[in-house]
Amino acid sequence: MHRLGEIEISRVVESEQPFVNLYDFIPDATEDVLEANRDWLIPKYIDPASMMIILNIQSYVLKTPNHTILVDACVGNHKDRPGRPMFHQLNTPYLDTLAAAGVQPEDIDIVMCTHLHVDHVGWNTKLVDGRWVPTFPNAKYVFARKEHDFWLQREKDGSQGPVPNVYDDSVLPVVEAGQAVLVDSDYEVDHGISLEPAPGHTPGNIVLNLSSGGANAVLTGDVIHHPIQLVRPEWSSRACEDRVLSGKTRRALIERHADTDTLIAPAHFASPTMGHICSHGDSFRFNLLGDS
Ligand SMILES: [Zn+2]
Repeated sequence: MHRLGEIEISRVVESEQPFVNLYDFIPDATEDVLEANRDWLIPKYIDPASMMIILNIQSYVLKTPNHTILVDACVGNHKDRPGRPMFHQLNTPYLDTLAAAGVQPEDIDIVMCTHLHVDHVGWNTKLVDGRWVPTFPNAKYVFARKEHDFWLQREKDGSQGPVPNVYDDSVLPVVEAGQAVLVDSDYEVDHGISLEPAPGHTPGNIVLNLSSGGANAVLTGDVIHHPIQLVRPEWSSRACEDRVLSGKTRRALIERHADTDTLIAPAHFASPTMGHICSHGDSFRFNLLGDS
């Protein structure tokens, strides 16, 4: 747990393992850049045997004086993901891990997804008697309207791409249960916790800015998917809907927070995940906090 003013930030890891080959995931990546950064990227963030990136799939839990907020809901259990073997029909102890962090599903007041990709919405729902129901019975689920409407439209016109079902099994049941709240992309979720638009990875992608007691943090979601993107901010991943815009958004975020005290909390960096962006020559690196 990390304390940021009055906000406690915890991580709940669903899975963390080598995931996909670096050069498949980030098509622009080059061996010379990797070699020049080997000392901090390997083996922490890239498995040298397979050249696969280490992907950490996790939620953040924010405890404020008023609310318990869960940010990003991982892959989930029992979801049918035929195009994605890594995500297909999982059965992980995620809810036990959450309980070990002192949080029961009914304790969650607000669920936030930085965007609606398969690995950020899964635990929005769980399977009960053959039906998808909200996992967090007392929560309002806050979605950026722009992001929600983009995926709703894709669901309607059947163009969800390689991972169908995601809206239907992980978002729609929340809407139908009356627990969804669609908001503008600069909405204040709680005192000192606000959305900010960060388009490119997806059209309605957001980051979450935290400010408490004079300390600042930003939950960056997938704007920076892998630490090598600090070295070359314009290198977008195959998961980015708009790679050029994603690169611009990424560079702006990196330059804004580099060499500041702002704590960076990315979605997918290997544990312990959180740290600070620091400039290094004409690019950037990542300084991890101690394990938290
Ligand atoms: Zn992701």
